[in-house]
Amino acid sequence: MTHTEAHRVVIIGGGAGGLELAAKLGQKFGPQHVFLVDKAGDHIWKPSLHEVAAGTLDIHREGLSYFMLAKDKGFTFIFGEVAHIDREARRILLEPVFSDQQIEIFPARTLPFDTLVLAVGSKSNFFGTPGAAEFAIALDSTEEAERFRLRLLHQLVTANQKKSDHASYQLNIGIVGGGATGVELAAELREACADAVFYGLNSLDPQEDIQITLLEGADRILSALSPKMSAAAQQLLTDRGISVKTSVRVARIEADALYDSNDVRYPVDLCVWAAGIEAPAFLTLLGLPTNRINQLVVDGGLRSSDPSVFAMGDCAQVPWGEQGQFLPAKAQVAHQQAVFLLPIMAERIQGKEVQARQFQFRDYGSLVSVGHTRGVGSLMGVLTGKNWFVQGLLARMMYMSLHLMHHFAILGFLRTTSLALGRLLMKRGRPRVKLH
Ligand SMILES: Cc1cc2nc3c(=O)[nH]c(=O)nc-3n(C[C@H](O)[C@H](O)[C@H](O)COP(=O)(O)OP(=O)(O)OC[C@H]3O[C@@H](n4cnc5c(N)ncnc54)[C@H](O)[C@@H]3O)c2cc1C
Repeated sequence: MTHTEAHRVVIIGGGAGGLELAAKLGQKFGPQHVFLVDKAGDHIWKPSLHEVAAGTLDIHREGLSYFMLAKDKGFTFIFGEVAHIDREARRILLEPVFSDQQIEIFPARTLPFDTLVLAVGSKSNFFGTPGAAEFAIALDSTEEAERFRLRLLHQLVTANQKKSDHASYQLNIGIVGGGATGVELAAELREACADAVFYGLNSLDPQEDIQITLLEGADRILSALSPKMSAAAQQLLTDRGISVKTSVRVARIEADALYDSNDVRYPVDLCVWAAGIEAPAFLTLLGLPTNRINQLVVDGGLRSSDPSVFAMGDCAQVPWGEQGQFLPAKAQVAHQQAVFLLPIMAERIQGKEVQARQFQFRDYGSLVSVGHTRGVGSLMGVLTGKNWFVQGLLARMMYMSLHLMHHFAILGFLRTTSLALGRLLMKRGRPRVKLH
């Protein structure tokens, strides 16, 4: 690829933040200025991955093609995984792309940039726990979520077979980490397993035969949120027969069990790791400051120590407030940062002097889904500045609206509405959980 005169903004990572920035910037300036690179061909809103894992959301219907979005929104999409960035030469190096039969689809390539925005997100952090990478599944990508779903289906069929042979059998699912991901997954799994029984696995009693255990190291689940939210979520999980263990630190994982720091054994047939994050390791090789979880250290304007390199979302360590804190890894943060970076990127493309700006995060609260009809959340009153506690169906509906708002930011009102209506109608002709 050759360098052209047009100022090139290259955004790496088309997730919650990067895609929104690419779409809005592309609409203004077009594909010769705006490039989006992603290692996946389809975009999925990451907070839905627990639904993909439970089989209640079909990734083949949910994903949005980056190639389609590029055409509609006026950016250039480059399919491939970034292996390295040569900051001196101002170019990124992409790995070759292979098909599942190992046929090379795209060769290794380079892509020049004038301004680079890193939006590569994060993945699960196993904190060096022995056996975790080998035996636990982390919901970092659609592939991992699908892998979990297929293993769950397999285990459910096996359990059903054993029960129909009158053998005593219990399927044990262990979830490590009682943050939003672990809590949402536990509740979603409870409902999905009950639904699966409708479709032929009728020797199983989902409540009795499927044991879901959520293990959390802190003394309460959702420890980053208010104690009131933790208590409400714990109650909802317990009501659904999910065993919640707090102050339990998982020390090692084996093929059929988890062990805590006191060597207490928890049998598991399936294990999910949802206890903490880290940014991709290649960020530590750029010659720019990173923190202990590989996040790129940026200032309040999302700039790294290289004036042409910015970072946003989960892969960036951004200062927050006066007490030396940093912004949390949340979709809400990534979305607001995309909006913040838009005028800055526009000025760079237009060759204007870039105004000094500081990113101000506006916390609108947090919502956690606890199954399809329940949720808990705290909402920050925009006018009053007060924190409102919400729960039940209202909280769940508000949670669902976050997904719609993400689509709205990318696709606009009409397409989001028709997509949502289409999905609603399609649902009526399909099983509630994906069975193949
Ligand atoms: C199961 C689950 C539930 C969650 N629930 C919530 C919730 O309810 N509310 C909330 O606010 N947050 C939630 N989160 C967190 C939220 O998803 C993230 O904070 C948010 O997606 C971060 O956005 P991002 O743009 O930084 O990165 P991401 O959305 O993770 O996107 C990163 C993109 O970069 C691409 N990429 C990565 N490495 C490379 C590479 N080397 N080369 C090319 N492309 C690359 C990836 O393919 C991906 O498309 C949840 C996360 C998970 C996993």
